[in-house]
Amino acid sequence: MRIVPFGAAREVTGSCHLLLAEGRQVLLDCGMFQGREEGKNQEPFGFQPSRLAAVVLSHAHLDHVGRLPKLFREGYRGPVYATRATALLMRIVLEDALKVMEEPFFDEEDLETLFRHLKPLEYGEWLRLGDLTLSLGQAGHLPGSAFVVVHGEGKTLVYSGDLGNRQKQVLPDPSLPPKADLVLSEGTYGDRPHRPFPETVAEFLGILGHTLAQGGKAFIPTFAVERAQEILYVLYQHGHRLPRAPIYLDSPMAERVLELYPHLVRYFSEEVQLYFLQGKNPFRPPGLQVVESAEVSRALTREEGPMVVLAGSGMLTGGRILHHLKHGLADPKNALIFVGYQPRGGLGAEIIARPERVRLLGQEVPLRASVHTLGGFSGHAGQDELLAWLEGQPRVVLVHGEEEKLQGLGALLASRGQEASLATFGEGVEV
Ligand SMILES: [Zn+2]
Repeated sequence: MRIVPFGAAREVTGSCHLLLAEGRQVLLDCGMFQGREEGKNQEPFGFQPSRLAAVVLSHAHLDHVGRLPKLFREGYRGPVYATRATALLMRIVLEDALKVMEEPFFDEEDLETLFRHLKPLEYGEWLRLGDLTLSLGQAGHLPGSAFVVVHGEGKTLVYSGDLGNRQKQVLPDPSLPPKADLVLSEGTYGDRPHRPFPETVAEFLGILGHTLAQGGKAFIPTFAVERAQEILYVLYQHGHRLPRAPIYLDSPMAERVLELYPHLVRYFSEEVQLYFLQGKNPFRPPGLQVVESAEVSRALTREEGPMVVLAGSGMLTGGRILHHLKHGLADPKNALIFVGYQPRGGLGAEIIARPERVRLLGQEVPLRASVHTLGGFSGHAGQDELLAWLEGQPRVVLVHGEEEKLQGLGALLASRGQEASLATFGEGVEV
């Protein structure tokens, strides 16, 4: 059995790994390259799509599913296996991606072809392809997210997908994988553990309380899948401790996900399931107002606080958050709260460095609002959680992380007597 990484090798995006076993080729994820690596989406895959027997997905994030339509564009017509939650979330994610892409490398027809080839595979079910078997385990990263266990040629391979942050409450904790001959593991936060989650929530509520009490606006740039809803969940649980203020969800995509959530109840933590069983939707806090149209969104920038504004994009690469910041950053009563990762070189990182002025939508704006970064909302396992998940695994190949972080994690694994190496694009590893 061999596994060949064709993405997320010493980087965080483009997850796509080719498995060769029992005379078959199976693809694990088929993600999009994002940010500076975007150009690579136009390049050939490195394998022949028409020769694949199946595709198995770990979760619905764009960097794990974004090149699937290209796979169909280039001749693949086989099944794509995923949990029902992954399949449903993926539709929203891919339709949005097509809408905002500057240089599309697929079209609506490719999307429809892909959707027709989706096949459900739930946690613990066995997918049999001749003598090759695959199954999914709980990864706790998104509703329906999974790691993949493969048995073939007398060997066992585990592919982690993305592992969730077990401190958070919305999703189940990741399950432990079986002992394997090789684990292909993510290492996004291989360099450090996360701070305790209750501290993150306390700091978040402190900033909100202070901002709203002054009549200010709290701007929270959010990813539309999972992070926006998680912030709403925290507001549902703790909002009664804050000054009364409207909460605007100014992201049509996040609203689509929010509408889907009651249909995915069984994919959440027991705590969340209990709310739904009691007839409550814990992702819709009191005071929530969904902003549909762009005109209402623009009008909101002229309104007085206090208010909470959740808007995309999470990394400030576009979207409605930009006009809120353009009109709001000059006011010292306001606060900008980052609850998601900001890549080096991006606008978020620039603002976090606190320059005197920021260029937004072609205009220079003085930065007088307070700026806060809360890393504890991360959707990924921290270093300590990764080490615990990988404990006792003799061989680990690391993917999905910046090179220094993967090297740090690799050194720690080696110090525990585990063999660890970094994946290289296109270079197969024998299991
Ligand atoms: Zn992910």
